[in-house]
Amino acid sequence: EKAALGDKHEMLQHLFGFSSFRDGQEPVIESLLRGEDVLAVMPTGAGKSLCFQLPAMMKDGFAVIISPLIALMENQVALMKASGIPAGMIHSGRSRAENVADWQGVASGEIKLLYMSPERLLTPRMRQALGNMPVSMFVIDEAHCISQWGHDFRKDYLGLADLKTQFPGVPLAAFTATADEATRGDIVRRIFHGQARQYVQGFDRPNIAITVEEKRSSAKRLETLVKMREGDQGIVYCLSRKGAEQAAESLRAAGHNALAYHAGLEDYDRAERLNRFLTEDDLVICATVAFGMGIDKPDIRYVIHMNLPASMEAYYQEIGRAGRDGEPAEAILLYGYNDLRLRRTMIDESGAVEDVKRVERHRLDALAAFCEAVTCRRNVLLSYFGDMRDDPCGKCDICRTPPVMADGTAEAKLALET
Ligand code: ADP
Ligand code: MG
Repeated sequence: EKAALGDKHEMLQHLFGFSSFRDGQEPVIESLLRGEDVLAVMPTGAGKSLCFQLPAMMKDGFAVIISPLIALMENQVALMKASGIPAGMIHSGRSRAENVADWQGVASGEIKLLYMSPERLLTPRMRQALGNMPVSMFVIDEAHCISQWGHDFRKDYLGLADLKTQFPGVPLAAFTATADEATRGDIVRRIFHGQARQYVQGFDRPNIAITVEEKRSSAKRLETLVKMREGDQGIVYCLSRKGAEQAAESLRAAGHNALAYHAGLEDYDRAERLNRFLTEDDLVICATVAFGMGIDKPDIRYVIHMNLPASMEAYYQEIGRAGRDGEPAEAILLYGYNDLRLRRTMIDESGAVEDVKRVERHRLDALAAFCEAVTCRRNVLLSYFGDMRDDPCGKCDICRTPPVMADGTAEAKLALET
């Protein structure tokens, strides 16, 4: 009558509450159950967390999950606890008592998933303690953060490079959504010392309709765009904190439920705003890139970019926050040449080494080319990540309204004839 707890379908349904696996999840889960070292690249919203949470529940011992942001850990652990999954966390944002309590939970075998910030894992004491514990695997979430080629490099992540040396017998898994070839190669070199089984799933997010429009009187345009989507939840990305504040203010003045979010807010304020975002279903959040990584709200209907993102990777990651529930969603970018120039200057003046600057310029140029493309946007985007398609998506702005090309040949012919 009662199915074995060890069955992964059983666990999927009864513990996680899902009726079936999504594309790409099963092979990764099986690989982790076999104890292999794995790099999995799957689109945002694909369900990467489940790929390590489920094996962590099935394996003996406990899994250590490294995550770059405290908010991200808090969010995931809260979700898991709510479904009765024994998870805990250790990071600097909690009291010593809280951290100790979760450590005891691990020691007693109660906690199966322990989330930790990289800087915690790097302390010699923690490493030594873990050496005497039944760690089932190490999981590095948002693994692109280890690569300087990636768009979200974190110094803390560099310290993860010797996990494989210090814990040679413990399987290691790394997950990311956004890694072009350079970043993937860099991840495998750094964390896996050259050897990992790779699972790269397509990058397509077919429910997101992409639009790029020429930027004109952007504040007014924003109001119109939001008004047309009244009642839906959206994210408006702005380049600066000031830009985010202004966008939120003008939307509020127009009667919309809007809030700014950026790294300049006090911690308590940020937490409160995040909480409002998670609990209200019509809130438009006007944010800098400080908002987003790991945001797991399924029903975000649109992402509007008031300014050009830094790169194709950043753009892809940011629009990926829309439509995680698989329902129709939109990504609208307001493209202006001044923003492109500004981005170029930001790279020139970044102080990075020339090699990094070169890669950054290439990525920015790819994004500019995407904005100026006259063929299906989805296909241009996907081809950048090595995923070639020739069927147009049918719902980007180019597919909806093909640009009218000046017919130079006809004119030339006419000129020659007369
Ligand atoms: P990712 O980390 O890949 O961006 P998440 O792990 O945050 O994505 O998952 C995105 C959403 O998909 C979550 O709300 C999660 O609960 C849901 N999800 C994951 N796996 C399944 C599944 N097999 N069936 C239905 N929903 C799923
Ligand atoms: Mg994730």
